[in-house]
Amino acid sequence: MTHVLIAGAGLAGVACAYELAKHHVDVTLIDRNDYHQFQPLLYQVATSQLPAQDIARPLAAIFAKHPNVRVVQSEITDLDFATRTAVTADGTSTSADYLVLAAGARANYFGTSGAPEHSFPLYSVVDAERLRLHVRSMLESSGGPLDVVVVGGGPTGVETAGAFAELFAALRTMKHRGGDADVYLVNHGKDLLAPFSERSHKYAHDKLLAHGAKLKLGVGVSRIEPDVVHLSDGTTLATRTAVWAGGESASEVASGCGAAPGRGGRIDATADLTVENFPAVYAVGDVANIPDADGKTLPQLGSVAQQSGLWAAHNIRRDIAGHDRKPFHYKDKGIMAMIGRGAAIAEVGAHRHQVEGPLAYAAWLGVHAALLSGAHSKIDAFMSWAWDYFDRDHAAIVECHGEPKRIAWGDEVKPTI
Ligand SMILES: Cc1cc2nc3c(=O)[nH]c(=O)nc-3n(C[C@H](O)[C@H](O)[C@H](O)COP(=O)(O)OP(=O)(O)OC[C@H]3O[C@@H](n4cnc5c(N)ncnc54)[C@H](O)[C@@H]3O)c2cc1C
Repeated sequence: MTHVLIAGAGLAGVACAYELAKHHVDVTLIDRNDYHQFQPLLYQVATSQLPAQDIARPLAAIFAKHPNVRVVQSEITDLDFATRTAVTADGTSTSADYLVLAAGARANYFGTSGAPEHSFPLYSVVDAERLRLHVRSMLESSGGPLDVVVVGGGPTGVETAGAFAELFAALRTMKHRGGDADVYLVNHGKDLLAPFSERSHKYAHDKLLAHGAKLKLGVGVSRIEPDVVHLSDGTTLATRTAVWAGGESASEVASGCGAAPGRGGRIDATADLTVENFPAVYAVGDVANIPDADGKTLPQLGSVAQQSGLWAAHNIRRDIAGHDRKPFHYKDKGIMAMIGRGAAIAEVGAHRHQVEGPLAYAAWLGVHAALLSGAHSKIDAFMSWAWDYFDRDHAAIVECHGEPKRIAWGDEVKPTI
């Protein structure tokens, strides 16, 4: 039986493995975690609106009915495209007929002094938990600045700033000390949500201000220290909580695997998602520069990751059957962002039809439910949690008194976060 090695069990890797599993291909799926994590909901974990285990599904549960998928929990230390081999931290070497690189992205600090040591990236549930526990300890401690500084005005920065602004506003109404805290969003460009339309820039700007966030636009971060962020205009912001949403590059494992990295350290994929000179190696999801039909690089989005993972599986099956591989065709569902409870913006479909508010949230929900459906069967549980989240204010209650409202996934196997 053909053996496919998949490096990374995010949206791209799981979509690829799942499709191959249904067609009796032998799959080895390696990830440093024993769970699949859903990045679009990380900021809800960081702001105590969801427990970490609700966005981390055990890989054992996802592939329970597929004995042809062997899940290996280990850090990949080396990858070799020429021999399609992965070496893991325990020294084990695994080779296969095909290699699918799906190792995702990590924060790119662009050489900002102090940023790797003193800021909080948001790429994994471990990152989100670290940030949540840090904020909680800040709220419980009696001194020092409580303000949060979010670096970066793309969707992650805007969503995270919106969620923190809401949390602090809610704490204010409860006369909790956290109510004194401010949230600053610092962005190099003048516009928030740069890839979106002018109207969306303004919507995000107005909604963030309405939620109580403070905006520092057209200014960069030059240095981060444990209790202060230095801006490029010479001013400073006192904080012990700097969240880094300032950019990303490919996961480390993409370097040194035999192909020269392209923009962002990512591996350039060809039209059929293989890597040039390596016809049995595919690069999918955030780790890859994936061209659209016009040759332009697609953005690092969940839908691109999921669809490219699935497409790689289809092309591997075509290869096995002796058919020609097909160039990747991306079904563009649009771009969307949540700016806090009750406020969402969506530019739907390839023509970017603009909607705001509950309609935009419904679009956001549809796209995210589709992304989650690769790993979860109970999408209605997510829908019910999400509408409640959009409608009601849980943040402060959760922070002061207890547990967030859960998504009723009903999983028996628990991830080891
Ligand atoms: C905070 C945040 C919010 C986002 N919000 C949205 C959104 O609202 N909508 C949207 O469409 N997209 C969103 N995205 C982008 C989307 O989540 C990504 O495009 C998508 O997750 C990429 O999938 P992937 O499979 O390529 O990578 P990932 O999901 O990152 O998966 C990569 C996997 O590889 C594993 N891995 C990496 N290196 C190694 C190694 N050396 N050894 C073993 N395992 C390894 C990792 O553990 C991980 O499981 C967001 C991203 C972030 C960070």
